[in-house]
Amino acid sequence: CGIIGILGRHEVSPQLVDALRRLEYRGYDSAGVATVDAEGRLDRRRAVGKLVNLSDRLVHDPLRGHAGIGHTRWATHGAATEVNAHPHRWRRVAVVHNGIIENFRALRDELIAMGIQPESQTDTETVALLAGHHMDQGLSPVEASRATLARLHGAFALAFLFEGEGDLMVAARKGSPLAIGHGEGEMFLGSDAVALAPFTDRITYLEDGDHAVLTRAGVQIYDSEGHQVGRAQGRIDVGS
Ligand code: GLU
Repeated sequence: CGIIGILGRHEVSPQLVDALRRLEYRGYDSAGVATVDAEGRLDRRRAVGKLVNLSDRLVHDPLRGHAGIGHTRWATHGAATEVNAHPHRWRRVAVVHNGIIENFRALRDELIAMGIQPESQTDTETVALLAGHHMDQGLSPVEASRATLARLHGAFALAFLFEGEGDLMVAARKGSPLAIGHGEGEMFLGSDAVALAPFTDRITYLEDGDHAVLTRAGVQIYDSEGHQVGRAQGRIDVGS
């Protein structure tokens, strides 16, 4: 139900949890974060229930890294369990998602026919499986994300994080809002500007059908035709 992504300069897992706290007002049943550490390792922690369950878990089993994504889930497909909580991860890709992938059953059948077995009941996991599969086939993270997005029907905001890529996130929006936040040598993404308020007030809203490639140096935005586009950057006053 809420998404946050940070390419930062500090340990991001506390920042991710703080930002998720600001998205609590949307409601949620579980939460999770994934990070890429200095060695490029992708890892995640998830917990059912209140955010304090996730932050407790992170105290006992910390996640290192300056790049990460986080999620609060409002289950639409699959019960509120840890296995169904986001980030979903397969091979070298982790994904957080708001919304619904309408054609996930067909995609899921396709993946199973290729010998790729989902472990959750969610629509979201198919996105991670498809992207991970495309990377195994030799596509770059950005190409794999694009090839995956081209297959998805429905309403979604998505963020992708990749093993071995501590300076890259891919984001996409179709139907659900998604904001990009510009920092000083840092970049952010989030479901809304409120989540990004502790980090920056310089915001670019993606338009419907857009996807974005983020590094700490900046963001490149592409429209539904794949053409690179400029989207206005504004200053948002959401208080602190
Ligand atoms: N459809 C996804 C799920 O049930 C995402 C729900 C959400 O927006 O939190 O896991």
